[in-house]
Amino acid sequence: MPTQTAGYAAQSADTPLAPFHFERRDPQGDDVAIDILFCGVCHSDLHTARGEWDGTLYPCVPGHEIVGKVSAVGPDVTKFAVGDPVGVGCMVDSCGHCPSCNDGEEQYCETTGFVGTYNGPDPVMGGHTFGGYSDHIVVKEGFVLKVGHDEKDLAAVAPLLCAGITTYSPLRHWKVGPGQKVGIVGLGGLGHMGVKIAAAMGAEVHVFSTSPSKRDDAIRLGATSLIVSKDADAMAEHANSFDFILNTVAASHDLDPFLMLLKRDGTMTLVGVPETPHPSPSVGNLVFRRRALAGSLIGGIAETQEMLDFCREHGLVSDIETIRMDEINTAYDRMVKSDVKYRFVIDMATLEG
Ligand code: NAP
Ligand code: ZN
Repeated sequence: MPTQTAGYAAQSADTPLAPFHFERRDPQGDDVAIDILFCGVCHSDLHTARGEWDGTLYPCVPGHEIVGKVSAVGPDVTKFAVGDPVGVGCMVDSCGHCPSCNDGEEQYCETTGFVGTYNGPDPVMGGHTFGGYSDHIVVKEGFVLKVGHDEKDLAAVAPLLCAGITTYSPLRHWKVGPGQKVGIVGLGGLGHMGVKIAAAMGAEVHVFSTSPSKRDDAIRLGATSLIVSKDADAMAEHANSFDFILNTVAASHDLDPFLMLLKRDGTMTLVGVPETPHPSPSVGNLVFRRRALAGSLIGGIAETQEMLDFCREHGLVSDIETIRMDEINTAYDRMVKSDVKYRFVIDMATLEG
């Protein structure tokens, strides 16, 4: 018997999110059923709900920064027990046997593609998956993460499941560490976690922002300075000096002013996925210093667990503003204006069944 689930959904690209009821499967095999306590609000939720990327399936229940407690387990579950604090990020399944899945990089699954926590195909219930803006979820144990943080921090841990791993993974991949000068472009949900994590890895971190008012926060989060990206003189002072830049901006913009700040052999990695493409960067900026422009997608499940453990060991959680479920549409409008410090997290106790 499937379980009735309460959530919030967008019914189309231009209607606000509103209460929605649907069914989830009961846990079977290696399934873990989770009562959701908190769900972070990622800019990808907004892009998807408002149809800014192609392919949104409606009704759309967003949410992929989920923290909750295990409420039931299937007979084959070995790693989790009822009552355990757990997390679920952007993926709930993948093919499990392609080269990327074999390497623990399920986000790059080469056959079916990973199954998104929302807007992915649901092989059991049919239709498409529904995400964390809901009171419970059922996920295979291989895609459930252990949360070891203090109980009081659970709301602030939720954004680690996407914002945390999406910044941790490229910082690790490009071997950020002591002695390196690292830039984080955009101080939003992803950006503020990028600052905290890169600083904890030992790098000298600088924030590029369109918001000079975020300077004190940038320093408090672990940055050495905040550089206003529209100030050409301030940018020029840093020419050819960065080892690595992580660009988290959610809107189309000129990449050249940032590429010019990379040293020879430096890399800028894009994680922001804007609604419309960036203008093509200048080839000269790349070839004359062997600079690289790259991209990165969330992180694998094992790496997500590694990130959660790293954050716990370094005392890192997200800076959050907790909201009620019925405040989600206002939160989206504020996110578009870069007015969030630095992640909204929905307290799921405010969702009325
Ligand atoms: P967010 O909280 O809205 O932060 C984005 C930040 O970008 C803003 O706070 C702002 O920072 C800056 N910004 C916004 N509009 C800008 C503009 N027009 N020009 C320059 N800067 C601008 O969003 P988020 O949740 O961190 O997500 C960021 C992007 O990453 C989204 O596109 C999201 O879909 C994507 N994403 C990708 C992955 C992945 O795996 N690759 C995973 C999650 C999210 P300042 O005020 O400091 O300028
Ligand atoms: Zn996300």
